[in-house]
Amino acid sequence: MARVVYVNGRYLPYAEAGVHVEDRGFQFADSIYEVCEVKGGRLIDETRHMERLERSLGELRIVMPMSRAALGLVMREVVKRNRITTGLLYLQVTRGAAPRDFPFPEGDVTPTLVCLARRVDDAKREARAAQGIAVTTMPDVRWGRCDIKTVMLLPAVLAKEAAAEEGAQEAWLVDPQGFVTEGASSNAWIVDPSGTLVTRPTGNAILPGVTRRTLLDLLSRENIPIEERPFRVDEAERAREAFITSASGTVMPVVAINKVAIGDGRPGALTLRLRSIFHQVAETSL
Ligand code: PMP
Repeated sequence: MARVVYVNGRYLPYAEAGVHVEDRGFQFADSIYEVCEVKGGRLIDETRHMERLERSLGELRIVMPMSRAALGLVMREVVKRNRITTGLLYLQVTRGAAPRDFPFPEGDVTPTLVCLARRVDDAKREARAAQGIAVTTMPDVRWGRCDIKTVMLLPAVLAKEAAAEEGAQEAWLVDPQGFVTEGASSNAWIVDPSGTLVTRPTGNAILPGVTRRTLLDLLSRENIPIEERPFRVDEAERAREAFITSASGTVMPVVAINKVAIGDGRPGALTLRLRSIFHQVAETSL
């Protein structure tokens, strides 16, 4: 079945879906996106993703292309038309198309809205989680507002590519003071030798991950100690366990950092437990 993509009010075949050449998302990365997990054909943590979308758009003064309720219908329709059971939903909003000029265009420019969904091979992802991933650290060369989920992702692209060249599946980005900010497309966590979870507090330096937020709820429910504080690469390399969180991987074990084995070099017990119960606290849409 051909994939169907929603673009500005129409459901189009994948090959025919496109936006204007002067779209500001294309020319300036003047654009926000969201990625939401689809499980059992349902959206996971939709409310938090919509809240973050509205916040990110607000920071750039881009108007919501439609109401949250209408957007919810589009998202469900895209999942349905593509018959996605296990997968990801991708949503992108740009400021719209206008003759190329840096300041915001004058008048009412209609935002561009794209929504697509794709299948994820669950068996493959579970196999990856059972094995754990390797990460490589590198300087965080991004901008000062990493809390806004913009499509300005070139530093993440280069970081992931550099990690892949080292045989790693994620890059952990490090600030000028030597503290890990986050992964190129995930939040970074460690379990310290006493069993306390550590992750960097939110702020301008990281994306406030939806999975991070939901995991904090889970930790509080399970009475697992957590410290929101920055940690250094050497502390991470000596950690008992490490993992990353993202909508696409939920809780994904990290077994090596810069080729240094974490713990016994296998996914940590606590990490795997959190992975297995994550969806008990995440919101599942109707
Ligand atoms: N940080 C960055 C830089 C990301 O790109 C992502 C994934 N979009 C995350 C963290 C994780 O966020 P979420 O849990 O909302 O997917």
